[in-house]
Amino acid sequence: MDHPIRQIVILGGGSAGWLTAAVLAAEHQAALDTGLRITLIESPEVATVGVGEGTWPTMRDTLRRTGVSETDFVRECDAAFKQGSKFVRWREEVDGDYYHHPFVLPPGFLETHLATGWMAHRDVPFSMLTCFQAHLCEAGKSPKQFATPEWASVANYAYHLDAAKLGVFLRRHCVEKLGVRHVADHMVEVETHENGDIAALRTREHGAIEGDLFVDCSGMRALLIGQHYGVEIESQKDVLFNDRAIATRVPYADPSVEIACQTISTAQEAGWIWDIGLQSRRGIGHVYSSTHTTDEAAEAALRRYIVATGGREQDIESLPRITIRPGFRRGAWHRNCVAIGLSSGFMEPLEASSLVMVELAAGMLADQMPATRAAVDIVARRYNDTFSYRWDRIVDFLKLHYVLSKRDDSEYWRDNRRPETIPERLQDLLAFWRHQPPSRYDLNRVEEVFPAASYQFILYGMGFTPEPRSTTRRMDDVRRSEEYFRQSADIARKMLPALPGHREMLDHVMSRGMPRI
Ligand code: AMP
Repeated sequence: MDHPIRQIVILGGGSAGWLTAAVLAAEHQAALDTGLRITLIESPEVATVGVGEGTWPTMRDTLRRTGVSETDFVRECDAAFKQGSKFVRWREEVDGDYYHHPFVLPPGFLETHLATGWMAHRDVPFSMLTCFQAHLCEAGKSPKQFATPEWASVANYAYHLDAAKLGVFLRRHCVEKLGVRHVADHMVEVETHENGDIAALRTREHGAIEGDLFVDCSGMRALLIGQHYGVEIESQKDVLFNDRAIATRVPYADPSVEIACQTISTAQEAGWIWDIGLQSRRGIGHVYSSTHTTDEAAEAALRRYIVATGGREQDIESLPRITIRPGFRRGAWHRNCVAIGLSSGFMEPLEASSLVMVELAAGMLADQMPATRAAVDIVARRYNDTFSYRWDRIVDFLKLHYVLSKRDDSEYWRDNRRPETIPERLQDLLAFWRHQPPSRYDLNRVEEVFPAASYQFILYGMGFTPEPRSTTRRMDDVRRSEEYFRQSADIARKMLPALPGHREMLDHVMSRGMPRI
């Protein structure tokens, strides 16, 4: 039973389905007779979830790899630039409590322990002291100049985008340029070979669509990996409590108001509110724990937030409820079927981990595409090991945002600190990090989802205090970190007047485009 892999069938056309199709089709030359044949089946009867609006800087490489133009992407997906996240009131429930998680590695990050030097400046947030990008975010500056070419940056960046528009944009590129066959039809039955492999997906009007390898991008329904194969979700609800979300779109009250260049995430009594600035509107939602609050209270908190941040009560669109089952499938690749996107797992929208996992999955599948059926099982084992590791790290990293909070205004925050809700590995690391900042030794795989710098921004943003050792160490020499703090302030001072405002930059992209190289 060793036949070549020639036909890939992707079930589902949300962000996961079309991103995967685009990455695979570009790499495996689906437009040529000699390339892989790629078919995407998308039911016209089932709507996509379409609220994933935040990304990680990897999205730039992922999109570039598919051959699209960045100007077209920004224009057609209502996209804006994102330079990180700002966390408000996560530490304490008081005015003025905030920290940043920017995308730029702070100067001196690899040469010294910046947190040791930060101890003498505790009244300044770690991000503002160590990283110039936090200043660009606060000033609403663009991460690039008018003359910066497509995909290049002055300061590292990702995007905020309209997920529904991204699907349409990638679909057109996939079908018109990359040779992907699009079947708009409803899958009604899975047909299998005797050995249990999937042979074909039967559709209502296009008959059976045969394939050698099937990618399940059918969202939370997980039609192939879950409903057909019964691969279970490992729940993380005991660690990450948020299991419900409401989301809405809010127009800018005034069309000249600056567009935030970072995701603003504001902690609430039983969850947090995201606020994402696109070109034409904001995307705002509240994710919360149904164990700790009611739907009515969560909706009231969201409405209060919108009005307090310049939105108008009468502009708030309907608030559909989304149910989240925090968890993931350890065996996301089973036989000749691999689940990518919500079908493989989902936690909560914190840190935009969902789309990063889609990019990593599509990238690995494209790079390691088995040439024959015999190689499928080898790649599957490797894939499941890699992605189980990544999901575990995402759970640790997301939980890190909660465990150091001093908030005491609800059971939600107290429960989040209970040791039995904190993964053992994270507890160990927190003990270790008292004398040693998070480093590549803690995160030592080739493509970690979140690098050590991200852990430092959260850890010290939340006010974690490093403790001195009984012996000295060159890395803890504060004269060196002082020099890097000066450097960072210097870069910020030079960059601030040299960079256009975020809205100004987006207007420029809309009218003139970005230079291509
Ligand atoms: P999302 O829920 O956003 O992850 O998207 C799920 C995708 O799966 C959508 O493109 C749906 O049209 C697609 N989908 C769900 N059920 C079926 C089905 N029975 N046949 C074909 N496509 C489906």
